[in-house]
Amino acid sequence: MGPKLTDQTVKVALDLPLRRSFDYADASFSPAVGERVIVPFGSRRISGIVIETGGVVSDFSCELRALADRPADMPPLPADLLALCRFVADYYQHPLGQVIAATLPAVFRSEEVFSPPPPRVVYRANDAAALTAGLPARASAQRRVAAALAQPQTPSALRQLAAPAMGWVRDWLAAGKLETLPEPAPGAQSPQTPPPLNPEQQAASEAIAAAEGFASFLLFGVTGSGKTEVYLQAIEKKLGQGLQTLVLVPEINLTPQLVARFGARFPQARIVSLHSGLNETERAVGWLAACGGEADIVLGTRLAVFTPLPKLGLVIVDEEHDPSYKQQDGLRYSARDVAVYRANQRNVPIVLGSATPSLESWRNMQVGRYRLLELKNRAVPGSVLPSLRLLPMRRTPQRDGLNEVAISAIGAALARGEQALVFINRRGYSPTLACNECGWVASCRHCSARLVLHLAERRLRCHHCGYDAPVVHACPDCGNQDLKPQGRGTQRLEATLQTLFPGRRVLRIDRDSTRRKGSLDAALDAVHAGEADILIGTQMLAKGHDFPRLNCVVALEADTGLFSVDFRAEERLFALLTQVAGRAGRREQPGEVLIQTQFQDHPFYASLLARDYRAFAERALEERRQLHLPPCASWALFRAEAKRIDEARDFLCSVRQCFPLIAGVVIHEPVAATMVRKAGQERMQMLIEASGRAALIQSLASAMPAVEVLKARGVRWSLDVDPVEV
Ligand code: ADP
Ligand code: ZN
Ligand code: ZN
Repeated sequence: MGPKLTDQTVKVALDLPLRRSFDYADASFSPAVGERVIVPFGSRRISGIVIETGGVVSDFSCELRALADRPADMPPLPADLLALCRFVADYYQHPLGQVIAATLPAVFRSEEVFSPPPPRVVYRANDAAALTAGLPARASAQRRVAAALAQPQTPSALRQLAAPAMGWVRDWLAAGKLETLPEPAPGAQSPQTPPPLNPEQQAASEAIAAAEGFASFLLFGVTGSGKTEVYLQAIEKKLGQGLQTLVLVPEINLTPQLVARFGARFPQARIVSLHSGLNETERAVGWLAACGGEADIVLGTRLAVFTPLPKLGLVIVDEEHDPSYKQQDGLRYSARDVAVYRANQRNVPIVLGSATPSLESWRNMQVGRYRLLELKNRAVPGSVLPSLRLLPMRRTPQRDGLNEVAISAIGAALARGEQALVFINRRGYSPTLACNECGWVASCRHCSARLVLHLAERRLRCHHCGYDAPVVHACPDCGNQDLKPQGRGTQRLEATLQTLFPGRRVLRIDRDSTRRKGSLDAALDAVHAGEADILIGTQMLAKGHDFPRLNCVVALEADTGLFSVDFRAEERLFALLTQVAGRAGRREQPGEVLIQTQFQDHPFYASLLARDYRAFAERALEERRQLHLPPCASWALFRAEAKRIDEARDFLCSVRQCFPLIAGVVIHEPVAATMVRKAGQERMQMLIEASGRAALIQSLASAMPAVEVLKARGVRWSLDVDPVEV
C-alpha cells in the first residue's frame, strides 16, 4: 500500500555514509523535528533523527515508505544542536546523518527502545515503631531492619542488615508504612570554602563574570597557577543563575579527579560526567540529565561538546592545547573548535585554559578574537616553580643513556625520602633491535616502520599494524650474535634503574603496563600511597596528576621533538616538558627538572628554561607565517591507501581534478605518506592548502560532490580538515 495524499512526509537523517536525508510518509506519528524515529531501510529497521516535517506527498509510487515507530525514549534534539550538527557536517565535509549519530549515546542509535534504570532511592519509615507492631518477639532481624528505617536507608544497606530485608520493605511499602525518597548525592555535606583569589585570579574571574553574551577568553597560566579555581568561581556564578556549564577535559583519566573537586565545592549541584569509559546506560542517563536541564555541570571528554544543554551559560575547555581534542578517525572534528563555535552560537562565554596554549589559540588572541587572561605565578603562597636544567649528553659519563648528574639527582631525592620520575618522550622514538656490525634494524614486513622491542615478553611488535614476532638472536643479514637494543625503552630503563638503585621500588607507567582496565588507576594510587620510589613514565603521566612527594624529574629523549617531520613537534614538546615540570614540587619544596640533551644551544631550550612560552610562541608563529603553515594557513588532507601505491596515487589524482580553481587555494600533488606502508597497505596523501578557512571550505564544498562519486575500487580514502597529524 503506497502513501496517501493525506500523509505528510518527513525527512530523516540516518547513520549512513551518504550525504542525503531520506523521505518517509507519516500518517499517525506526527513526530517533531529532532525526534528519534525508527524507519524501514531495505530489509532492516534503523534509527534516525527527523530533520524536517510537513512535506507533501508528491510521489505516489510505493517507493515512499512509512515511519515504523517512534520510541519516545529521548527528548527531540533541540534546534540549536541540529544547527551545530549542520555546521559540523559542512565544515568537516561529513554526512549529516553520521554527524548526528556520532553525537548520540549508543542506545539512541539502536532500534531498541531504551528504558532507563529505575532511579536510585532510599526508604524511610514514617513511624518506625509501627513497622514492628504485631511482630513475634523472635523476629529480631526484621526488628533490626525496622529500627534502621527511622533513618533513610539504601537497599544495599538494608540487605546487609538482613538478606530478606527488601521483601519486608515491599510489604511495608504496600501497607503505606514507608516512604521512598530520591537518593541524596554522595558527599552532600557542607561545601568546601574556596581560597580567596589572588589579584590575577580575581581579575580573570571578574572579566569572565562581566562577559555578556559570547566572549572567548584564553586563560594562560602555568601549572598550579589556579586556573581551575578561576573555573570554579565562574561556574559558581552560573549555578547561582540556574545555568549549566559544559567543561571539557582532554583525558578520561582526569575526569574522576575533577568531578571529585567540583563535587566537594558544589555539593548541591548535579554533576554529570560523560566519557568513553562509561557503559551505554550510564552515558545515556547522564546525557538525558543534561538534555533535561537537570545536570548543572557536564564534565566530559571531546564527545561531550555535542551534549544538548538547554540552559547553557558557560563553556570551559581545560588544557585546550591537548591534541586529543581532535578526533583522528570517522568524524575528524576538533572539540575545542566546535566548543568555540557552540559558545558563539549560544551567545555564552567560553574559557580556554592552558599553560602552553596551542598556536591556533595564541594567534586568535594576537588578532583580537580571544581575550588574554594571564596568571603568572603559582597560586599556593610560597610555592615556587621547579628549577629547570639541561644536562648536555655529549662527552659526559653516562650509564645506559642516563647522565651521571641525573643518576645522582635521583639518588639524592630518594635519600631525602622523596620520589623521582624518569620521563621518556616517546614522540618519534621507540626501542628496537639493531645490529652494530652491518646496520640491520628490525623492521615490520608490512609497514615502513621499525619493530618495537618488548623486553619482558621477548617480542618484537609493530605499533602501527600489530605485527608481532619473537626476538631474533642473531642478525639475519650478517649472523652477528651480539644484537643490541637501540634506544631506551621504558622496560629497559626499568631494569637499569633497578640495578642502579637496588632495593628501591621502580614503577613503570606506560601504555603497556596499563593496558588492562583500571590498571592505570591502581598504579596512580600506588604512587600516591608512596608505594613507589622511582616512576618511569611517558606522556600518560605528564597530564594533570598531582604527586606531592615528587620533586625530581629527569627527562630523556627530549631532542626527538626538535627534528621531527611533524611541524607541530616542537609545540608539543614545549607543552609536554612544561607539564612534566609541573609534576615536580607542587607543594612547598622547589622541584628540579633535568633535561638530557645533545642540543643545548637550540633556541627552543632557551625559551623553555626561561619559562617564556610567549617567546617560544612568537618565534614559532613567525616561522609558521613564513612557511605558510597552520595556523597561518588552512589545511585539509586527503589520505588514500591501497594494495599498490599507484592505485592510491591515481585515485588522488582524480580527486585533484575535481577541484575548481579558487584564488588562494592550492591543491598539491599527491605524495607518499611519512609511513608509506601500514598494515600491508600503501599510503599516499594530498594536501589542500588555503589562505584561510573560508576559502578552504568553499573549495572543498565545490569539489566534494564530484569526489564522492569517483570510482575508488580497492582504495580507502578519507578527508581530514584541520589535520593535526600530517
Ligand atoms: P591549575 O588549574 O592552574 O593547575 P589549580 O586551580 O589546580 O591550578 O590550583 C593549584 C593549587 O593551588 C590547588 O591546590 C589550589 O587549591 C590552590 N589554589 C588555587 N588558588 C588559590 C589561592 N587563591 N590561594 C591559595 N591556594 C590556591
Ligand atoms: Zn648484521
Ligand atoms: Zn606493521
